[in-house]
Amino acid sequence: MSTAVAVEPALDLRNVYSGYGTSVIVRDVSLTVPAGKVAALIGPNGAGKTTLLKTIAGTIRPSRGSIYMDGRDVTRLAPARRHLMGACTIPEGRGIFRSLTVRENLQIQARKGEDKRATELAVSVFPALGERLSFTAGTLSGGEQQMLAMAQAYVRQPKLVLVDEASLGLAPLIVDLIFEFLQKVTQQGTSLLIVDQFVNRVLEMADTAFVLRRGEIAYAGSPRQLLTGGVFKEYLGLPAGVAVDPAAPPATQATEAPTSRAPRRPGRAGDSRP
Ligand code: ATP
Repeated sequence: MSTAVAVEPALDLRNVYSGYGTSVIVRDVSLTVPAGKVAALIGPNGAGKTTLLKTIAGTIRPSRGSIYMDGRDVTRLAPARRHLMGACTIPEGRGIFRSLTVRENLQIQARKGEDKRATELAVSVFPALGERLSFTAGTLSGGEQQMLAMAQAYVRQPKLVLVDEASLGLAPLIVDLIFEFLQKVTQQGTSLLIVDQFVNRVLEMADTAFVLRRGEIAYAGSPRQLLTGGVFKEYLGLPAGVAVDPAAPPATQATEAPTSRAPRRPGRAGDSRP
């Protein structure tokens, strides 16, 4: 007879409330990200997505509720301790040392004795960094800095990555690279909780989806149902009947929801910022 070993979720939030001072932004949020899975966190502007991610990372203390990582109660743990447990946020002010070289930035993140391996790993996911190893990080373009920040997270092989608008303000080509990178991260068994303006792309790669509306979970379930079931607008509180031109860039669809039409190019058509 085989004994199945229960795997603890990478992240488990139970009835979490948090905010700023006396202002409560996140209300009674419970959500679970199973180990090795991808969760999408979507919602309108100001819904509290970033506040929730900061609460998980530990930079904001919840006023009520509990946060578990890998089965361990981290509610009162400092951000640095959560980081040591394998949780990281990207981008975190891009999280790089601008006066150090790309190679030095990567080596700082490497485990002891694994400097060379860390550089190789980073270049394997972002080959463009290979040509910039001796450059000072501050001289890199915005897209390259973003790649470096993400590669830094990758070389640590974190258990849980909180991704907050990693594609914001970046050129379409770099956005493509970032989504390819996120796929690779999941292949190493890392769990992801992703907030991103490219809602369709995130939902397509997610195993589970959460919609946050006015600080509360309005939907928890299948990303497919959100994409195709016509519930997207309802949950986001958007006006019905908005036609979306699949060829239009996301910026022109800033407050529109994706349609149920199949995208011409996976993840690009109908991408929108809710
Ligand atoms: P967006 O998609 O626009 O980034 P969001 O869903 O990430 O929005 P938050 O950035 O978490 O939402 O903001 C939620 C609410 O918290 C907003 O009303 C915002 O004004 C407020 N807020 C954010 N940061 C602070 C702060 N440092 N102090 C006080 N209120 C804040």
